[in-house]
Amino acid sequence: MTQMSDPASNLAMVQADIRKAAEASGRNPKTVNLVAVSKFHDAPSIIPVLEAGHRLFGENRVQEAAGKWPALRDSYTGIALHLIGPLQSNKVKEAVATFDVIETVDRMKIARALATEFERCGRQLPCYVQVNTGEEPQKAGVPPAEVDAFVKTCRTELGLDIQGLMCIPPVDEEPALHFALLAKIAERNGLAVKSMGMSADYQTAITFGATHVRVGTAIFGHRPEQ
Ligand SMILES: *Cc1c(COP(=O)(O)O)cnc(C)c1O
Repeated sequence: MTQMSDPASNLAMVQADIRKAAEASGRNPKTVNLVAVSKFHDAPSIIPVLEAGHRLFGENRVQEAAGKWPALRDSYTGIALHLIGPLQSNKVKEAVATFDVIETVDRMKIARALATEFERCGRQLPCYVQVNTGEEPQKAGVPPAEVDAFVKTCRTELGLDIQGLMCIPPVDEEPALHFALLAKIAERNGLAVKSMGMSADYQTAITFGATHVRVGTAIFGHRPEQ
């Protein structure tokens, strides 16, 4: 599809859809941030999106992002990079050096490792807690019933800057239920940020209050390898 090979015009279409979805639910479109998910795509695919003025990106692998983004940051100012994939303890140092926001704080061990690294390097990144809204055994994330205590411990004991929650709904379920659940948990914890919605369902997520939608395929086309 030629349409899929033009990330800049895809970006414009996604931005227009975001505006429409926000306005349709009485929200200011400026309150919805588009995280362009560039995982598996190389610099030549990403540059048109940077040239179009976009600066907010998501990557799900620390190693890949650490290889790709320093050179892009040298050429374009104001880039903000979100980690949206699972974080291992031995990658925490590199993740903190590479990313601007960690969206996937999903267990106490990682929360502690992040706190230690922030302390060590004097850099405190905003963090989101990943919630396993579908309570899927194979999926990362804090179970919904444990989020309140988890957030509290992260804040009070570890001093983490927890700004919001993120979720990846189960593939075979109505995402709206999961977006509603995430919004409810965020609300009762006083968390403003809700990172939810991907290419297939970002409009729905906006209806349920998403402040960040993570969109890959609809901008960059199908991923070269998976
Ligand atoms: C890959 C990925 C996305 C983007 O998915 P698309 O369906 O390509 O838009 C969003 N969030 C996470 C956590 C991802 O890993």
